[in-house]
Amino acid sequence: MSKLVIVGTVAFDAIETPFGKTDKILGGAATFIGLSASHFNVDAAAISIVGGDFPQEYLDILSSKKIDISGIEIVKDGKTFFWSGKYHNDMNTRDTLVTELNVLADFNPVVPNNYLDADVVMLGNLHPIVQLGVLDQMTIKPKLVVLDTMNFWMDCALDDLLNVIKRIDVITINDEEARQLTGEYSLVVAARKIHEMGPKYVVIKKGEHGALLFHDDHMFYAPALPLEEVFDPTGAGDTFAGGFAGYLTKTEDYSFENMKNAVIYGSTLASFCVEKFGTERMINLEKNEVLKRMQQFKQLTQFNIELS
Ligand code: AMP
Repeated sequence: MSKLVIVGTVAFDAIETPFGKTDKILGGAATFIGLSASHFNVDAAAISIVGGDFPQEYLDILSSKKIDISGIEIVKDGKTFFWSGKYHNDMNTRDTLVTELNVLADFNPVVPNNYLDADVVMLGNLHPIVQLGVLDQMTIKPKLVVLDTMNFWMDCALDDLLNVIKRIDVITINDEEARQLTGEYSLVVAARKIHEMGPKYVVIKKGEHGALLFHDDHMFYAPALPLEEVFDPTGAGDTFAGGFAGYLTKTEDYSFENMKNAVIYGSTLASFCVEKFGTERMINLEKNEVLKRMQQFKQLTQFNIELS
């Protein structure tokens, strides 16, 4: 069975949307990535850090999805990373209200011994030095390294971020972040500039407007499934990345053609994530629901037209 290493935050989130507000609930990039990747039955390990305030039942949720958590360090007298965000009425844009790094400020990731030869490494959103630290530990060069990041790290650790970007195969980034990283408004030009920074494949996520995949002069677009209800978009980007990386780990085919399918799986899984607050929908998501929505996705995007 192919192995997937996931690094990212395991967090407390407090979320406010036009539909309601939560207290501190389970969140974090590695959490959403792991829950999403667990749909592909790959051998996945999460690497992160939490404080003594982090409930055991949250860790049990990850274990119950067969995610190896031996790489999640628990600092007994520390506090867990905390993020709080508020969504605007369009549900596509949000303001970060609080980012408390807490235990994340002094995190030295340790990849468990049996994952040092993982096939795929998914560098989820956290400090680029931690992302680099994970890459440096791998004893065999991974077949694929995927990176997700956000504007927070562009603002406070740009040089470190550019150093990681040099060493990865795929970057997943949202449209505004692609513009911030490159200074270009056109996403096509932005993708070209990001190629020049290192990654052979660039995925630009556009929230409810889907995702674009770029590779040299090739481009692929997948819409987001139009949903009746969008309740909370938190974690949709991570869920997309988890589905993308999980599918590629399972199929062991890292070609552009197969990445198109990975984008569709990522988009499908993300479409569930937004239906409930936080991780709730992903925790209870069944295999047959995913399959049904993949069929809907196919119908949405398939057409037959004769071109003469
Ligand atoms: P997404 O909506 O996909 O961008 O991901 C939201 C998740 O990212 C939340 O669960 C947060 O805990 C986590 N998060 C927010 N800010 C950061 C940050 N600066 N670094 C790492 N993770 C973060």
